[in-house]
Amino acid sequence: MTGETHLVSTIRELRALVAPYRARGSVVAFVPTMGALHEGHLALVRRAQQIADVVVVSIFVNPLQFSSSEDLDRYPHTLDTDVASLAESGVAVVFVPPVSEIYPDGAAITRISAGPVADRYEGVARPGHFSGVLTVVAKLFNIVSPDIAVFGQKDAQQVFLVREMVHDLNLRVRVEALPTVREPDGLALSSRNRLLLPGQRSAALTLSTALRAADAAARRGAASAVAAGVAVFAAQSEAQLDYFDLVDPVTFARITDDARGDAGSDALALVAARVGSVRLIDNARIALG
Ligand code: AMP
Repeated sequence: MTGETHLVSTIRELRALVAPYRARGSVVAFVPTMGALHEGHLALVRRAQQIADVVVVSIFVNPLQFSSSEDLDRYPHTLDTDVASLAESGVAVVFVPPVSEIYPDGAAITRISAGPVADRYEGVARPGHFSGVLTVVAKLFNIVSPDIAVFGQKDAQQVFLVREMVHDLNLRVRVEALPTVREPDGLALSSRNRLLLPGQRSAALTLSTALRAADAAARRGAASAVAAGVAVFAAQSEAQLDYFDLVDPVTFARITDDARGDAGSDALALVAARVGSVRLIDNARIALG
């Protein structure tokens, strides 16, 4: 099987491909994605290849994590180029199930209920989103049975909740989170960047600019850092701020000047904003003074 890329769409085929690796005691790494792949996804793939004997990448746009008012139908699909770049990267198994394979009885009846952190930040704007994410991640973990799963820190709240699920439900998988891959000017790579209109890219840059401003102000404390981030949004009109806040990177508890986190002076600055109809998120570690 070495060198070849297997494209499979059923759970049965996927398990049949992975089983011989497991029988041999090989390390299996898994990278779940929703496709429209970019260099950020490929960085996760490269890391998975470094630490495992076989890499499985899934491409599945999970309807359960989109609410009806959201843009499930607009989510970019670039399957042919995705599969070509995964084959070029030497990925052994690409799993592209249809929705009916993952949800044969319609929406999953049993769902993962995420803890309270799921109701903040992205969970406010997207009710039920993280229950949908965790449900599909748990299903994919059970289908692939990976030793290691690789996620991006770009979706910081998601990776926090996945780690919490793995811990709380005693799942046998190690979760690795990798730093966000950015354009040279700081824009975080995202599949949703493809939905931006030509004139909107500079507005999208407001998120990473605000994170840098917060970092620069962080030695004056949490309130100053947040104010600096918010001020970047106030100075322009094309990106509408949803939230800008600081949390403890370890517990995701909100950090203020009165309530410093367990992680000492380290904070995670979180930002979400809308550029036209495209919702973007970003985050960065900052050191509070
Ligand atoms: P998605 O296809 O958006 O569901 O993302 C699949 C995985 O890629 C998730 O673990 C994301 O956090 C990760 N990811 C998305 N964008 C980036 C990026 N710019 N850098 C690193 N990882 C990313």
